[in-house]
Amino acid sequence: MGDAGQTGESPLVLVADDDGFLRTLVREAMTAEDLRVVEAENGMQAIAAFSSHNPDLVLLDVTMPGMDGFEACAALRALPGGELTPVVMLTGLDDPDSVRKAYEAGATDFASKPINLLILRHRVRYLLRAKQAFDELRQSEARLASAQRIVRLGNWEWNLATDRWLWSAQMFSLFGVDPAAFEPTQTRTLERLHPEDREPVLRALEEARDKGKSYSLDVRILLPNGSTRFVHEEAEAVIGRDGRAARVTGTTQDISERKKTESQIRFLAFYDGLTLLPNRLLFVERFNLALSAARRQKGKLALLFLDLDRFKRINDTLGHSVGDRLLQGVGERLRRCVRSSDTITRGDNNRADDSVARLGGDEFIISLMDVAHGEDAAKVAARILESLAEPFKLDPHEVFVNASIGISLFPDDGRDLDTLLKNADSAMYHAKESGRGTYQFYSKSMNVAAVRRLSLETRLRKALERNELLLHYQPQIDIESGAVIGAEALIRWQQPEIGLVSPAEFIPLAEETGMIVPIGEWVLRTACAQLKAWHDAGHTSLRMAMNISGSQFRRQQLLPVLQQILAGTGLDPRALELEITESIVMRGADETINTLKEIRAMGPRIAIDDFGTGYSSLGYLKQFPIDVLKIDQSFVRGLATDPADAAITGAIITVARGLNLSVIAEGVETEEQRRLLQAGGCRLMQGFLFGRPVPAGEWGRWLEAGLRLTPPAA
Ligand code: C2E
Ligand code: MG
Ligand code: MG
Repeated sequence: MGDAGQTGESPLVLVADDDGFLRTLVREAMTAEDLRVVEAENGMQAIAAFSSHNPDLVLLDVTMPGMDGFEACAALRALPGGELTPVVMLTGLDDPDSVRKAYEAGATDFASKPINLLILRHRVRYLLRAKQAFDELRQSEARLASAQRIVRLGNWEWNLATDRWLWSAQMFSLFGVDPAAFEPTQTRTLERLHPEDREPVLRALEEARDKGKSYSLDVRILLPNGSTRFVHEEAEAVIGRDGRAARVTGTTQDISERKKTESQIRFLAFYDGLTLLPNRLLFVERFNLALSAARRQKGKLALLFLDLDRFKRINDTLGHSVGDRLLQGVGERLRRCVRSSDTITRGDNNRADDSVARLGGDEFIISLMDVAHGEDAAKVAARILESLAEPFKLDPHEVFVNASIGISLFPDDGRDLDTLLKNADSAMYHAKESGRGTYQFYSKSMNVAAVRRLSLETRLRKALERNELLLHYQPQIDIESGAVIGAEALIRWQQPEIGLVSPAEFIPLAEETGMIVPIGEWVLRTACAQLKAWHDAGHTSLRMAMNISGSQFRRQQLLPVLQQILAGTGLDPRALELEITESIVMRGADETINTLKEIRAMGPRIAIDDFGTGYSSLGYLKQFPIDVLKIDQSFVRGLATDPADAAITGAIITVARGLNLSVIAEGVETEEQRRLLQAGGCRLMQGFLFGRPVPAGEWGRWLEAGLRLTPPAA
């Protein structure tokens, strides 16, 4: 403090003593040192003079009337600026006790009376010089602290010998902690960093310690209020005399503002300001990443190019602000449509969000990852069109808008983004031409397949209630006796627009959508009713085989439904045969065995359909409760021409005989196949040679012949 340093005047000394003579002596001594002097006669005056003159040093007598020197010293120390001014106590009592009291009262030093003026002059000069150095240091510290505060920079030091951490005041405020309550250590510091940043910081610190490496890192601090502060760290090791790091010192600077600006700049560069969707630039970046992943994993991608129909008219008639709000609304709906299709865009929400982008104007683009079929893209397109069909409420207007979507697929329609975009774009124009509000694939065949599959799905849902499903029955023959021993029920779908649809096409779809449950139940019910009718008409030896699909088998309803049907029709359960495929048998062994046992306990027999195509081991045949093996038609087909097929067929017959199972060959089309099978020991057959699957009404010729085989119609 003091005026001296700032004004250029010589330092000011306050001399407080009740002895006027001594004051004069001291004044002369000080003046000789080129110092200025102000005098006080007692403690009270000394305090007043201190306040008004702000001296650079105080010489204070201990024994004064009224307030003594000890008291005055303590009072001075409490004044503003008083804590740092050197105070020399002039004590006549050269005893340890008053020296101690002087220091306790806050004195810097003491001089005992009688005063040796020469020594006093030296002492004063020394103290003033020390004070000046101290003042300068404090000023520079204060300047540093305020500079650090302004640039939000803290500094720290890690003493490696003591493992002590020193933080500047600004460090505490960067971490948002109270210096009085927080003692910095490495662990405590790391704890307050973002979890992802702890490891890199720890590694950098250790390298600084062990290898003397300096480092510079961007780090996130977790503030006590839960928010994050970005800081930049610069640190270096201070090498000691032994050539090893003695300390690590560093600075930590708040760069949150810069980060914010950076992210704003990034946002402006990569996102569309109106809809907040990614723009073309970001889309290209992301899509190219997805493309290379798809190339590696041999995956399929879809690109949907969407253009609003007649957007210009809305803009022109309702104004740009309505147009803008409409685009925002469209963007929002697109995002929702894509997000809900998580089976297609597997992965996190961000990824789903980023798969929608605005190319500009009223053009949007949607990328779908991991599409299994083109139809998956068609489903999303259909969902988007449906969602856009809802009116947009843009006060005070209610706006209707349609969109046209073009779809291109990777790798089918292009192997790079440009080609895919171009083709999706041209598909979009086709969509516009073929009457807006629709979607089109770039490839024509894809269009046909997707449309067919999608419309099949909707129509299949209605097929049951519209009575479009029917059963055909194919005879099964005992070749030794020539008797028709039974029928296999095969489902057909008479689709008004398309015609007869093969079960190979709609059964997998029914399984996927879960519709197999009501459909399968309908098959059981209808086939049982038919068999019952035949039994009632006297053909009591007839059996009925029915196909049970995998998902139907796994759902638990099969048993109760079967029970209920049997009870309802009063049919002899032993006349039923349930055909299941090898894959069902192979899956979930214990549970499957139990279900099969329960079915058999009720009466029906179990047949394994398409036997030999399932790549399964023969071992399971021993463990599973089954009755019949159906030799798949693929082996029968090659019987006469392919020795391998003949060998497999022979082996199946042998295995069946050894395990005491019945065996029936399906897909028998020629007389030669029949002969070979019969020679190999297979008695039961099914195939076009004997009869095609036909409606029950056409069974007349077998029924009339007493279920004797009649020669097939030419
Ligand atoms: P599957 O059970 O192996 O049925 C035999 C298939 O071979 C039938 O085809 C039948 O029409 C055909 N076929 C019969 N004899 C010959 C022949 O001599 N030559 C040739 N080339 N083919 C012959 P379909 O009716 O098209 O049925 C195909 C598959 O659909 C069936 O194979 C079965 O797995 C499934 N399926 C049929 N009906 C149902 C059903 O009601 N429920 C379930 N879950 N699946 C069914
Ligand atoms: Mg079958
Ligand atoms: Mg089969």
